[in-house]
Amino acid sequence: MEYPGNLFVVSAPSGAGKSSLVKALLELDSQVFRSISHTTRSPRGQEKHGREYYFASRDDFERMIASNAFVEWANVHGNLYGTSKKAIEERLAKGTDIVLEIDYQGALQIKQSFPHAVLIFILPPSWEELRSRLENRGEDASDVIEKRLTNAREEMAQVHKFDFVIINELFERALFDLKAVVHSQRLRYSAQKRVRSEIFSSLDIPVTLENS
Ligand code: GDP
Ligand code: ADP
Ligand code: 5GP
Repeated sequence: MEYPGNLFVVSAPSGAGKSSLVKALLELDSQVFRSISHTTRSPRGQEKHGREYYFASRDDFERMIASNAFVEWANVHGNLYGTSKKAIEERLAKGTDIVLEIDYQGALQIKQSFPHAVLIFILPPSWEELRSRLENRGEDASDVIEKRLTNAREEMAQVHKFDFVIINELFERALFDLKAVVHSQRLRYSAQKRVRSEIFSSLDIPVTLENS
């Protein structure tokens, strides 16, 4: 499917800082919108239905799968997570930039449906730091943390399938890197030609479909 806006997909092992980085990006950049996923996991302390996630029962989620309501879904750490068509279709129609915070299985499904999607993987600087971030976040029980650390090895082995890699050691540096990736996509020929068409025509640049 052709999509005129940019579709950014951010994946990372749990605790690498994906949600914090995306949240900070959204605060700085009002032109990018985060898709709200459905999940069967229970809400954490401060999470609100319709803000971080749409929290759904397993039955409801399975009904949505059966009715083809998802653009992608996956089983992650034993819970189901998915991006509904509804969550992104309005933005897709408008052509605004969207960011999906989803696991690598979902990222690869999105790449199949949207070949121009930009896949970004966030790595932690070390195993020790990953563990300590999960522990300090204080949101998950210790067996859940162990499961997430075990799964992190398999997740990080997928990093070569992504377009960009950001190492979240110093938060401000990683945020700068994320902004740079977003910004670079807006400078692509196809985007500039669409958004700044009046400049192209005033400079008498011939219309071409090449490199679009
Ligand atoms: P986090 O790992 O601390 O962000 O904990 P969460 O429980 O919020 O997310 C667990 C995993 O599910 C992460 O890898 C998320 O990227 C992934 N995830 C969240 N939403 C979606 C989604 O809509 N689709 C897919 N495929 N994965 C998702
Ligand atoms: P994810 O969404 O990838 O699971 P979070 O964004 O929830 O990760 O981050 C995990 C924890 O690590 C949070 O408590 C967050 O405040 C902290 N954190 C994120 N980035 C950094 C960083 N660069 N340095 C130190 N702590 C960080
Ligand atoms: P549905 O099965 O119709 O896709 O959605 C199940 C529940 O999640 C409903 O309460 C519905 O309103 C909500 N929902 C699902 N996707 C979206 C979405 O993208 N935006 C909004 N606002 N609500 C959604």
